[in-house]
Amino acid sequence: MNRQRLVILGATGSVGVNTLDVIARHPERFEVVALAANARVELLFEQCRCFKPRFAALADPTAAAELHARIAAAGLRTQVLAGADALAEVATAPDVDAVMAAIVGAAGLPATLAAARAGKRVLLANKEALVMAGRLFLDAVRNHGARLLPIDSEHNAIMQSLPADFAGDLERSGVRRILLTASGGPFLRTPLERFARVTPDEACAHPNWVMGRKISVDSATMMNKGLEIIEACVLFNARPSQVEVVIHPQSVIHSMVEYVDGSVLAQLGNPDMRTPIAHALGYPERIQSGVRSLNFFEIGALNFEAPDPLRFPCLRLAQSALQAGESGPVALNAANEVAVESFLRGGLSFDRIPDVIEEVLTRIPATGLADLAQVLELDREARALARRLASALPLPAKA
Ligand code: NAD
Ligand code: MG
Repeated sequence: MNRQRLVILGATGSVGVNTLDVIARHPERFEVVALAANARVELLFEQCRCFKPRFAALADPTAAAELHARIAAAGLRTQVLAGADALAEVATAPDVDAVMAAIVGAAGLPATLAAARAGKRVLLANKEALVMAGRLFLDAVRNHGARLLPIDSEHNAIMQSLPADFAGDLERSGVRRILLTASGGPFLRTPLERFARVTPDEACAHPNWVMGRKISVDSATMMNKGLEIIEACVLFNARPSQVEVVIHPQSVIHSMVEYVDGSVLAQLGNPDMRTPIAHALGYPERIQSGVRSLNFFEIGALNFEAPDPLRFPCLRLAQSALQAGESGPVALNAANEVAVESFLRGGLSFDRIPDVIEEVLTRIPATGLADLAQVLELDREARALARRLASALPLPAKA
């Protein structure tokens, strides 16, 4: 069997590290051609030693120079590339079969879209890229024979719960609705009065998942679920009214599909990203992931509740962004990235994150976006606006 040749974008992050954990279990199946990231030279160096990729690409040139020195000193053959363009270069190299897109945020869009346009199998964790440029991704898949395999656990669960031959028509497949589950994050029961004072570390302490800091804050505001509603609409050609959010605090059911006959199909498992990663890496075959068996006797009960719109206004913001043409999701995502960054740096209080996003959505007019250049231009504009709005707000009160 020919080994699948892989590029990992965002290799040093939470999804990247989990991906390499699964790959390491199957040396006969996978070959790592390139590893790419932004920083964390030491970890990337260790990964290069272990997986011996042909290329390592770092967006940050200083970090790239440092890695180059480490690699030369160790006598490794990996060639180090620097700069944002290097990411797209490795992701589109002719002998690459599949690309794990696991960079966080808009920074991952150009290389991920380039991989789709090069007809690669794209294992998509970088949901922000899909939210910003859903139609461009679908065009790339159609015109260049690419394939998108969702890594986000909910979308991977939905894919597993849809018919194997699903071709983008929910009605034809007899689907009544998609049930997107959400844990509710660390603040599901926190008194709302405390929201002005919660700290970045509290927001990042997710009850069920260990993830990067940006997505952890998104889970606390539930903007993560808002982005995932948009992601589901793109991936499964769903109308917003066909996607319902269900809070399920145990994170055992990763999402469900309800059919017109009343059947509900779900995918269950321990909350461990190695399951969706292994599903997409091996697809259509099943491969070992290292995830332990689900113990139903330990779990005991599964609970469900409706999301409270006052506690989680970001859900409503994502839904209204979906109504605002192609510019809505771009503005939503850009404002959210800026607000979350500002919160993580101590420059904005947690309860003001939705305020900044709402104001950006109000001020950016709804328009269509023809190409990547227009998407990136609007992204810049929305970020600049969000920065101005965030810096005009009072600094967070002490915890
Ligand atoms: P993380 O912060 O742990 O890692 C991010 C990775 O992206 C790092 O390798 C970092 O070096 C790289 N990166 C950041 N900025 C970059 C830039 N400008 N250029 C090149 N590389 C850059 O994030 P994560 O938790 O692994 O999440 C990655 C993506 O996967 C996000 O879009 C997130 O929403 C999605 N996702 C993550 C999880 C999870 O369990 N962590 C689950 C579902 C979806
Ligand atoms: Mg998810």
